[in-house]
Amino acid sequence: MQLLKDRILKDGVVKPGNVLKVDSFLNHQMDIALINEIGREFRRRFPGDKVTKILTIEASGIGIACIAAQYFQVPVIFAKKAQSINIDGEVYHSQVESFTHKRVYDVILSKKFLGPEDHVLIIDDFLANGCALLGLIDIVKSAGASIEGAGIVIEKGFQDGGRKIRDMGIRVESLAIVDSMSDTSLTFR
Ligand code: 5GP
Repeated sequence: MQLLKDRILKDGVVKPGNVLKVDSFLNHQMDIALINEIGREFRRRFPGDKVTKILTIEASGIGIACIAAQYFQVPVIFAKKAQSINIDGEVYHSQVESFTHKRVYDVILSKKFLGPEDHVLIIDDFLANGCALLGLIDIVKSAGASIEGAGIVIEKGFQDGGRKIRDMGIRVESLAIVDSMSDTSLTFR
């Protein structure tokens, strides 16, 4: 998606540890006109009427998922980061290792909001090593629901999350795939 790639080149900042900061337009301050185009593009890439729920993970995915959901006309559900002591039989749960915070979270989703009849589109801001996506996939599978695919705003193609998830037979649509990045240059696939 050229609009997104141009914006990453203009305002993205590469930080040590392979972290791309896009907090001036995507996940802290949010450029709604851009995210609206992102939502429209996800809809274009996942046409048809199979999707019944959009699933994301708190916090950065929520705003993006909500804007995209207006194009799909389906509810958004999000996995919450929780303390393990709160986990009971009423929730699906999985574990996610945070790439940016370097710690493991239990994530939960109420069983009320996802079941075997659902067709799920997963949306997130970044795909790096794939932990967040694998946790969400685990939750969808626990619910017996179907995965229609994953819509990712920025995939870091030099990390292996994308390969892992595609090898599982899941369709991953990333709007910008970064092939390499350093202080001075950033290239896309
Ligand atoms: P993964 O679980 O695929 O390793 O990482 C995905 C999650 O980590 C995303 O939900 C995102 O919040 C965060 N993340 C991974 N890489 C980056 C990055 O380069 N920049 C930012 N801002 N977040 C990232």
